[in-house]
Amino acid sequence: MADLFIDGEWVSGAKGLTREVRCPADGALVATVDEATREDTERAIRAARKAFDDGRWSSVSATERGKLLIRVADLLERDTEVIAHAESLDTGKRIIEARYDVADIVSSFRWFAGLANTNLGRVVDPGTTGTFSRVVYEPVGVCGLITPWNYPLLQASWKVAPALAAGNTFVIKPSEMTPSTTILLMRILQEAGLPDGVANLVLGSGAEAGAPLAEHPDVDMVSFTGGVITGRRVMAAASVTVKKVALELGGKNPNIIFADADLDAAIDNAATAVFLHSGQVCSAGARLLVEESIHDEVVDRVVAIASKIRLGGPFDPAAETGSLISRDHRSKVAGYVERALAEGAVLRCGGSAPVGPAFDDGAFYLPTVLDGCTTTMSCVQDESFGPVLTVETFTSEAEAIRLGNDTIYGLAGAVWTSDMGRAARVANALRHGTIWINDYHPYRPQAEWGGFKQSGVGRELGLAGFAEYVEPKHIYENLQPAASGWFGESEQNIT
Ligand code: NAP
Repeated sequence: MADLFIDGEWVSGAKGLTREVRCPADGALVATVDEATREDTERAIRAARKAFDDGRWSSVSATERGKLLIRVADLLERDTEVIAHAESLDTGKRIIEARYDVADIVSSFRWFAGLANTNLGRVVDPGTTGTFSRVVYEPVGVCGLITPWNYPLLQASWKVAPALAAGNTFVIKPSEMTPSTTILLMRILQEAGLPDGVANLVLGSGAEAGAPLAEHPDVDMVSFTGGVITGRRVMAAASVTVKKVALELGGKNPNIIFADADLDAAIDNAATAVFLHSGQVCSAGARLLVEESIHDEVVDRVVAIASKIRLGGPFDPAAETGSLISRDHRSKVAGYVERALAEGAVLRCGGSAPVGPAFDDGAFYLPTVLDGCTTTMSCVQDESFGPVLTVETFTSEAEAIRLGNDTIYGLAGAVWTSDMGRAARVANALRHGTIWINDYHPYRPQAEWGGFKQSGVGRELGLAGFAEYVEPKHIYENLQPAASGWFGESEQNIT
């Protein structure tokens, strides 16, 4: 079966190109998929444009749109094992983590299914003074959705579900390395009965298949999740046609531990914060800020946990985390660690690929702790997107806040303390989109997700994640039309 989904049909790319998808844990061939060129993406945009303009989805009642999204959620749940398996093979993540992802994807569809029925519109003037004025919310139109490789279907669901709930049509382009689960989602949308042309999928490289989504005048909005450098490029390209832009970018997220914290909980979570999914998490707690008086205990114990983390393939029951996405990415992470050491960071553990036959064909990298870091170092400022923790110290609440905000990013952060007054002060002062108090990583589909500063523009999830996909329109109706007399008659009045 062909792998591009355009106007309700599974097709190959116009040039007949294909790409191999390989499991990063062992290099095994997972699939060979069709590859789109710019021409194919433009075809998909035309299909989405037509499907939007003829109202085949936007004119469907909100109740029916919500019902379809519930059906999609049910089908995703039914196919949990198939989807989790495919996600694990593409990303190298453990199957258990992929199953958690599917549960979150289902929740995302259920949340936005409910919102489909929540009309944000309102009456401004009910007509008692001769005018009837109302604000209605309409779908934005054709949405270009571009997603990364770390949580392929989860990131897609945060865009696809609200786009459909609001009545839009879309073209989605997943990462070229992890297309499989987005293909499965398209099949499910088809099975659920979504009209042809509403959902379109192109596979291929960002430059070829993705760039037209930001550039094309027939795309009304582009929602992008990925790195900050690509995000800037997408924003610049979108500016030419002044389209709506939503960006979910990287983070360099501070995890702040005060001396009065429950240290058992804080230390255990400090390891999970950064080493979950081998650090390939936008909100990873990659910057540990620890109060100076407890530095040695905290770092020793985090290093002890990190040194014992078992690496392995997606289906290895003993593995606690998996491979990086590719050997290219591993080289980038290794380069980042080398620069850190050259800048004076102290390597406490990791700092290399693991050795052994189980790792030879994969892209594994050992959990790494870099102590003695300061905010002037590139390792503290730049996102590694790998299993690398940098450690800084502070001596006062004000200093912890200053350090926590000393970054171009503003995605997430955490504070660990038993003083709830301090917890509230620090949470308020940190300029990041999500703040955890005495926890790390949980999120809720009901709550907004996204970044301050260069971590992005706009939000996903929550109410704001739905609002990205609608345009407000003010409709003003004069119930007693009459000449205004502004010109002509008014001149007579003056003389
Ligand atoms: P990336 O390299 O920026 O790529 C993201 C997507 O953009 C991919 O599908 C990529 O295609 C595509 N792309 C590349 N160049 C493009 C262009 N000129 N025009 C349009 N699309 C283009 O990011 P990544 O390496 O996949 O993902 C890791 C980054 O995502 C990290 O920085 C992470 O923090 C961020 N992230 C953020 C969030 C959040 O919620 N804030 C969530 C997850 C990840 P190809 O790669 O296929 O060429």
